[in-house]
Parts: sequence; C-alpha cells; structure tokens
Amino acid sequence: AHVDNPYAGATGYVNPDWSAKAAAEPGGSAVAQNSTGVWIDRIAAINGTSTARGVRAHLDEAVKQDAANGSTPLTIQFVVYNLPNRDCSALASNGELKISENGLARYKTEYIDPIAAILGDAKYRALRIVTVVEIDSLPNLVTNTNLAACAEAKSSGAYVEGVQYALNKLHAIGNVYTYVDAGHHGWLGWDSNFGPSAQLFASTVRGTTAGFASVDGFITNTANYSALIEPHFTINSTVNGTSVRQSKWVDWNYYVDEQSYAQAFRQRLVSEGFNSNIGMLIDTSRNGWGGSARPAGPSTDTSSVDAFVNKSRVDRRIHAGNWCNQSGAGLGERPKASPAAGIDAYVWIKPPGESDGASKEIPNDEGKGFDRMCDPTYGGNERNGNNPTGALPDAPIAGQWFSAQFRELLANAYPAV
Ligand code: BGC
Repeated sequence: AHVDNPYAGATGYVNPDWSAKAAAEPGGSAVAQNSTGVWIDRIAAINGTSTARGVRAHLDEAVKQDAANGSTPLTIQFVVYNLPNRDCSALASNGELKISENGLARYKTEYIDPIAAILGDAKYRALRIVTVVEIDSLPNLVTNTNLAACAEAKSSGAYVEGVQYALNKLHAIGNVYTYVDAGHHGWLGWDSNFGPSAQLFASTVRGTTAGFASVDGFITNTANYSALIEPHFTINSTVNGTSVRQSKWVDWNYYVDEQSYAQAFRQRLVSEGFNSNIGMLIDTSRNGWGGSARPAGPSTDTSSVDAFVNKSRVDRRIHAGNWCNQSGAGLGERPKASPAAGIDAYVWIKPPGESDGASKEIPNDEGKGFDRMCDPTYGGNERNGNNPTGALPDAPIAGQWFSAQFRELLANAYPAV
C-alpha cells in the first residue's frame, strides 16, 4: 500500500557503512543508529564499489532490519543523483555524465532503468522506499542559467526530461515514494525565485505520465546548513522600526529559516496544482548550530538591524550562500516523523561526516571538480556576496569521510547529543 506519509509509524534504515564510520569517531556511537540517505551518485554505485555496497545489498540489509523490527514498517531513503551536467552551478559534485556526450540517454538506460528494476523487485515490496530526486537540479534552471553548464541543462531540456523520466519509473512502483528537491530558503526564498520555481516544478511534473500524482512531496535544505528555526526573530521582526528583511544577512528574503520556508512553499505548490496531501522533508543533518557560539536569546544590541540580526541568529555562517563544509555547524534535529504541519519528516539525507567537496584540487575518477567555495582561503563569488567561504580546511572530495567535520558536527549538535 502507498501511504500518505512513509515516515509515519515507521523505523528508519540504518546504513551499516555510515554507521560504522560514525561509531568509530569519539562519541560517535551516540548518533550512529540514525537513519541516513543512501546516495546513488554514479552508475557504479548501483552495483556497489570497493568502498560502498550497492542498491540491492542495501535493500537486502533493509529487509533484515525490517524483519528484526516486528510489525513496524521500515523506511529506506535513496538519493537519485546523476543527471547529466550534474551540479551545474558548482564544481565539487560534478558527475560522470555530460549532456554533450549523450548523457541524457545514458542517464535513462544505464542509471534510472537499472535502479527501477531493482526497487521494483517483489522481495522489497514490504519496504517503504523513499527516493530524493535530483538535488539542486531544477532550482539551478531558475537562478543559474548565466552559467554555461546550467544554460545547457535548460536549453537542451535534459534536466526536465531526466526528472520526468525518473519520476515515471519510480512512481510506477507502488512502495516507492518520490520527493523532489526544492532548494532551501537562502536560495529560493525571494519572490523572484519562489514563484518561478514552483511553476517550473509544476510544469515538469504535469508532463509525467501520472501527472501530479507522481510526486509525494518535496525536500528542502538537502546537504545544506540553513537553520531549521531561527528562535530569536521572525521575518516580521523589526529593530527600531526597521524590518529584519533589510539586514545584510536576510537581504530582503521572505524567510529566515527552513521550516517557515518549507511550509510556505508547500502551500504555493498546492496552489500551482500539486495534490493537497504532499508533504515536505527537511534535511536536518547538519543545521543544528549548537555549541558555545549559539545565541541564547535575542540580542540586546539594537544599535542597527545588522547588529541585532548578526548577534541573534543561530545560523553562524558568514553568508547564507555558503554551502561547503561549514565551519561551526552542528548536527540538527534527529530524524523524526510528522514534526510540524505539512512536514512529513526531518531527515538526515546528507550523511554527517561526508565531505561537501575538496578544499584543494584532488584528482579523482568520479568527475568531481575543485570548487573554491570549499577553499577556506577563497573570497567568494556573486552567489555568496563575495564573502569568505567559511569552509573547513583539509577536506577530501565530496562524499568521502571527513573525520574533523564529523567531530565538529557532534560537538555542536543542537539538540545536544
Ligand atoms: C557527493 C556524493 C555523495 C553525497 C553524500 C555529494 O556531495 O557528490 O558523491 O554521495 O554528497 O555524501
């Protein structure tokens, strides 16, 4: 049966490989039993590589965990992440497929088809299989087509067609749930991006075989650091009559945190035609912002709106456009079903401790580039207001274990571990 919220009343799959790495870090066993996303980040990941088990092996393990849980259903989360020209506005997570090298056709036949064949195997029918569909892809078509790889993704139709193809294959399997990426508030929270994104998602999904029924919901903040809730001010707060929207940090955005953004975006999607029962996921793996730098209350410094916001915000990033291995971050809310209106779950999709990208050029055979947003010495670009990156030093390539980051995430967890 296809339930409304696959997280409700279910236990989450514990990825034994991530769990072992987390447990091997000092204090890590306190969080090692949390469910994290399994990223299918290249064709080879389907069958497994020397360092990571494949999709079938994860599902077989999930069946075992499910059996050990009695009648409680089990939810396992896969990230479908291999569109041609992947990560078109950055370099750290560029993939193996290129639009100019027949990448869309290969995406369909060598990537989506085999994944769908495995997920559709009858022996996995009792599992609730959540798929997170193509992080950062459609939002990049809205805001970043000034960059060549994104312009090509748009003009060729490859992202839209790829997402439609994935949704068609995945939705056809009754126990598979689809959640499409919806960026985060610090990306799509301005009116100029919010409405156009909702419209693009609607037109894309309308073009699938099952139409709006092929989407169970959307996910925000995947692998990002935006705070779930800013407890000490809201978008309606003012300082001496000046709106916090005018602060440099908020920069005229209409949202100050992920939960308010996710709830509002859900409403907007429904008004664009999506089913009224769609639910949102929020990736809370690394947006905790605890530790000693976390403000305990609203600042008493009201000398300027910037002073107030900077001293009151729990998100301690230098700029909300910073996304790579953020210094000072902590683990966020533990995975939890139905935590708030319209939210299906808080989830840990980005496995904490896995790098967002290398801080220096590191040769690799996965297509991953060196993005200077991961370099702590870089002064930034237009997408982070030309600010320092706030990235931790000495990071390995995206996806590899980054022990120093895991330790900091654990130390700065909020709620504390
Ligand atoms: C990387 C993937 C990795 C994922 C989860 C992404 O940034 O590009 O290779 O699987 O993060 O860590």
